[in-house]
Amino acid sequence: MTDDLLVRWLTLACARVATARELLTDLDAAIGDGDHGINLDRGFRELQRRIESGLLGGDEAGAVLEGAGRALISTVGGASGALYGRGFQRAGAALLGPVGAERTQRDGRSREERAVIAFGAAVGAIIALGRASTGEKTMLDALVPACAAFEAAVGAGALLAVAARRAAEAAEAGAEATVPLVATKGRASYLGERSIGHLDPGAVSSALLLRALADAAAEE
Ligand code: ADP
Ligand code: MG
Repeated sequence: MTDDLLVRWLTLACARVATARELLTDLDAAIGDGDHGINLDRGFRELQRRIESGLLGGDEAGAVLEGAGRALISTVGGASGALYGRGFQRAGAALLGPVGAERTQRDGRSREERAVIAFGAAVGAIIALGRASTGEKTMLDALVPACAAFEAAVGAGALLAVAARRAAEAAEAGAEATVPLVATKGRASYLGERSIGHLDPGAVSSALLLRALADAAAEE
């Protein structure tokens, strides 16, 4: 991923999160504590501020992703801040790799292949930190199928814009599919069966972030 696309994605994501602030907060009010939109908006505003003031470590995608993760962890609060923050950090770390041989090797990959590595690292980190899997009514119900669709598209030779569109579609379908699920992780799990019949706010925000990536990539 070129840093140009990365920065355009994060900028668009920030705008989309601001627009969806009320929606995400209302979704969280139904099965959580009603702060998801407020949390994410605060984090993405800070991210935007750091992008604009050149604080995000400019010329390498890995460094930008790590910086974005740090920004989210320090400002979002709540479960989603730690989870998204760690995901971005690990995506960045996977691209930077250990200095030396492996790093040079990775630099030889296409940007689609690098994006697959970053996406996989992000989702793996969220799974590890949240100790959740799919079917538990969390952001992973959007992210896991999205990551699989992205990897499959790149494996079949798709360019980033196409792979990102497939990922966004899979994430949107995955988010919709959280409605009948019982939440077994996070605050919504306190509701047990009463969590049935609602969209998971984190799955919706994940789909929104991936739709922003698809739209940013489509502009190229
Ligand atoms: P909090 O629940 O601390 O108020 P947010 O409201 O910002 O944090 O985020 C809630 C979202 O975080 C949920 O909708 C869910 O998608 C996600 N989430 C919560 N716990 C986990 C977990 N253990 N693994 C994955 N995602 C989780
Ligand atoms: Mg909440």
